[in-house]
Amino acid sequence: MENPTDICGTVHDVIIIGAGPCGLAVAARLCEHTPSAIFTDKEHRRYHWIRKHSSQMAIKHKKDRSVMMLQQPRLGRKYSTLLLNATGDQWIARWNRLFKTFEITHLRSPMFIHVDPGDRDGLLAYTHDQDKERELEKIRECVGKEISNHRKKKRARSRKQQPHCEVVIDERDRKDYFTPSRTLFPEHCECIVNRYGLRRGLIRQENMQDIKYSDIENASGTDERLFTVKTNKGRHYVRTVVLAVGPGNPPAAPGLEAAPRIEGACHSMRIQRFPDPSVQAKIDAKRPTNVMVVGGGLISAQIDDLAIKHGVTKAWHIMRGLLKGILSF
Ligand SMILES: Cc1cc2nc3c(=O)[nH]c(=O)nc-3n(C[C@H](O)[C@H](O)[C@H](O)COP(=O)(O)OP(=O)(O)OC[C@H]3O[C@@H](n4cnc5c(N)ncnc54)[C@H](O)[C@@H]3O)c2cc1C
Repeated sequence: MENPTDICGTVHDVIIIGAGPCGLAVAARLCEHTPSAIFTDKEHRRYHWIRKHSSQMAIKHKKDRSVMMLQQPRLGRKYSTLLLNATGDQWIARWNRLFKTFEITHLRSPMFIHVDPGDRDGLLAYTHDQDKERELEKIRECVGKEISNHRKKKRARSRKQQPHCEVVIDERDRKDYFTPSRTLFPEHCECIVNRYGLRRGLIRQENMQDIKYSDIENASGTDERLFTVKTNKGRHYVRTVVLAVGPGNPPAAPGLEAAPRIEGACHSMRIQRFPDPSVQAKIDAKRPTNVMVVGGGLISAQIDDLAIKHGVTKAWHIMRGLLKGILSF
């Protein structure tokens, strides 16, 4: 049995580890009126309509005929929540750094992947509200006029041969086949942070090192089963922990375990500048340059593309399997 000596001097309801998009989505959702309710899209629209207009509605009691105006419940923090983030006390700092380093102009994900718990079309609504439609990029060859009749017929023919490979795309979901720009997504996150008041005193820069679940004696002298979250700055006691650490383990590349970086090589998550200054110096001197990218995922393809765009003479791509997806830049 332990005695709580939390560095905040309190037992928290929730601690979220990680201030990336996932941590933000959870923190915002906890401020909703019904954080654990799962609605269908149709129910969600109805529920929000009722909530929006509830202040203009009144309930009349059948017996005494008294009229009661409905109060609109306020959004805001209901649970004592703390956010621990290793890389800073700002929201989505790692996301911003990676997208800037890799010079990504548009996300790969479509518009319905976002952090707004209140509206499935929240990012789309924000885009229209801010007149930022120009910042959306169409996902090519998905739906719409870009598929020629010739290609449609060809697809239909190949579907007959392989009946199980059919990809059903509903043209009514056309609005979903766009991706947001690198600036639009964080702006929308910022809007969520403001809407739910998720700024002041919420994020602490601490690196979580261990979690334990055990009986702890609380202030009233009784035992309570709590999580003990150990960080580089101390301990926190909490009833619920959410791990939103992203690729939480330290990045490791085979052969580079001893040192995170050696000259000319590092894991993609450790890239601080691209191309590396030594490569850039050769490019500037118009000398031939070779960059080798190891990995079979989308990030490796992104780095190849970036290398070529920056003037590297040849980018070599090494992967252990066959190319699985269609890459388009
Ligand atoms: C080039 C590139 C392109 C991408 N494109 C897309 C895309 O189009 N769409 C998409 O959905 N995703 C994309 N991703 C992935 C994207 O980064 C993740 O989807 C997104 O950041 C995941 O959010 P997250 O909150 O889970 O994790 P992260 O954004 O990684 O945030 C995790 C946070 O947890 C913190 N943390 C980790 N461990 C600890 C610890 N022990 N203690 C305290 N804090 C800790 C980190 O400091 C970090 O701030 C891309 C990634 C890259 C690199």
